[in-house]
Amino acid sequence: MFGRQITLFRLLGFEVKVDFSWVFLALLVTWSLAEGFFPASHPGLAPATYWSMGAAGAAGLFASIVLHELSHSVVARHYRLPIRGITLFIFGGVAQMEKEPESPKVEFLMAAAGPVASAALAAGFYGLSVVAAGAAPVSVYGTTRYLALINGLLAAFNLLPAFPLDGGRVFRSILWHLKGNLEAATRTSSRVGSAFGLGLMLLGIVEVLTGNVVGGIWWVLIGMFLRGAASASYMQMLTRSALEGEPVRRFMTADPVTVEPGVTVRELVEDYVYRYHHELFPVADEGRLLGCVSVRQVKALPREKWDWTRVRDLSEPCGEDNTVEADTDAVEVLARMNRTGTSRLMVTERGRLVGILTLKDMLALLSLKMDLEGKR
Ligand SMILES: [Zn+2]
Repeated sequence: MFGRQITLFRLLGFEVKVDFSWVFLALLVTWSLAEGFFPASHPGLAPATYWSMGAAGAAGLFASIVLHELSHSVVARHYRLPIRGITLFIFGGVAQMEKEPESPKVEFLMAAAGPVASAALAAGFYGLSVVAAGAAPVSVYGTTRYLALINGLLAAFNLLPAFPLDGGRVFRSILWHLKGNLEAATRTSSRVGSAFGLGLMLLGIVEVLTGNVVGGIWWVLIGMFLRGAASASYMQMLTRSALEGEPVRRFMTADPVTVEPGVTVRELVEDYVYRYHHELFPVADEGRLLGCVSVRQVKALPREKWDWTRVRDLSEPCGEDNTVEADTDAVEVLARMNRTGTSRLMVTERGRLVGILTLKDMLALLSLKMDLEGKR
C-alpha cells in the first residue's frame, strides 16, 4: 500500500503527487480533529459542525504542506536544481531532489524556505482567526486557530537540527560552509538526525509507559522514520559521491548476449530466457542494434502465438527508456532507473551495442567500493 503514488495536480509547473498513505492520514486527521481536538477546544457544538471543521482542518493542513514543499521547490528551481515533483506521504511532504545542492548557500536557502513558508502561514491563519473571532461563526474561528497552530508546529518540527529535516539541512549547510566538505558535513548531521530520532523514540516509550499510548506510538513512529531517513540520506550522498563522474561503461557487462530478429518467441524463451535468466535481450542483426525484447512483452503475447511470432515483431525500438550512451554519468543513470523503474539498460556507442547495464551490478560494485574505501 505504501509507496503507491497518485498524481493530483500541477502547481507552478510542479507535479503534486500523493502517496497512498496520505489518504489514510487524511482520514485519521479528520477523525481525530472531529472527535478529539475541536470538541475539546470548542465544546458545545453539533457533531456535524465538528466533522466539517475536521474536514476543513485536514484540507487546510494538506494545502499547508503543499505550500511548504512548493517553497522549497521554487528556490530549487531558481538555482536550477532538478526537482521531480512533490510527494505527500505520511509524515508530510518531500520535494524530490535528484542532485545535491551545489553550494552551502543554495542548500541553506532551499532548506530554510519551507519553515519560513510554514511560519508565514501560521501568522496568516492567526490573523484570519483574529478577524474571524468577532465576525464569523465559531467554527471558522476554531479551524483557522487550528491551522495557525499546526503551521507553527510544522515550522518548529522542521527546524529541529535533525537531518534530513529542513533544520538538519540548514545545520549541514552551515557545517559545509565552515569545513568546506560536504561528505563530512553530511556524516555529522545525519548522526545528529539519527540521535534525534532515537531521542523521540525514547520519549515515545516514556509516553506509552505513563499512559499516553496513542501519542507515544506517534513519537516512536516519527523517531523511527527520522532515523531511517537520516541513514538513507547519508547512503544516498555516499552513492552520489562514489558514482559521480564515473561513466556507465565501467559498470556494464560487455559483449552481451543478443537475439537475432528472425528467432521465434518460442526459441527466445527456450534458448535465451531460460538459459541466461535475463529480463531483457538486445535484438541485433550483425552488430547493428535494432531494439530490445523483454520478458514482459513475451508474457503479454498469448502462448499459442509463440511458435509463429518472430522477435522482430515483438521488439521495442531503442529509446531513452531502454538505452544509454556509454559515457553517461552513472549518477544520472541511477536517478533515471529509480525514476522509470527499469533495472536493465542497453549501453550504446554511436548506435552500436557495447554492453548491458544492470542495477544489480551497479549496486554490487558500489557496495564493494564503499567497503574498500571504509565509508560504511
Ligand atoms: Zn521542508
